Amino acid sequence: MQTLVFATNNAHKAREVEQILGPGYSVKTLRDIGCTEEIEETESTLEGNALLKARYVRENFGYDCFSEDTGLEVTALAGAPGVHTARYAGESRDPDANMNLLLGNLEDMPDRSARFRTVIALVRDKEEILIEGICNGRIATSKSGDKGFGYDPVFIPEGYDLTFAELGDDVKNVISHRARATLKLKELLLKEWLDL
Ligand code: IMP
Repeated sequence: MQTLVFATNNAHKAREVEQILGPGYSVKTLRDIGCTEEIEETESTLEGNALLKARYVRENFGYDCFSEDTGLEVTALAGAPGVHTARYAGESRDPDANMNLLLGNLEDMPDRSARFRTVIALVRDKEEILIEGICNGRIATSKSGDKGFGYDPVFIPEGYDLTFAELGDDVKNVISHRARATLKLKELLLKEWLDL
């Protein structure tokens, strides 16, 4: 069993990553390693914020670690909310307020195309690796579904007519931005483990 430290306290993200990695991997979160402080995401890119969190754990707790940052990039909004996705409607990070603002800003916009982009930063003793996962799709005209988290009720992935919140984990964990990035991480770890 390989133990990996994931620099997050977001239970949804931890569960998704654990399900995507599958048996053979044990994922420890910040709470599990005794890191109770909030790591502020102060950088202006997803890459910068992912690296910042993983470096913090490596430097302060001594564990090899990976972390991820995700943004929703909407074409008609020139890539916004992007790195500001969590706080789009304010510091409360309220998912409903964020989605309402997004739906309002896209009202009457013909182009509803968007993508989720996840960046994973793997920080180890002598190296830092960045991995990207993208899921293309579009923003629905209203919220639907009660599964998942964050913007899932308004995001319809390419090739589907339902939102992530309607499709649920079984589909999301195969096609999502986080699934794509996590599978690349798994491939890298497996290659090293098998010494390929
Ligand atoms: P962060 O990566 O935790 O900073 O999340 C950025 C924002 O994107 C938050 O509002 C999350 O709720 C949202 N978010 C991240 N991943 C997903 C996802 O898989 N589905 C829907 N929203 C997400």
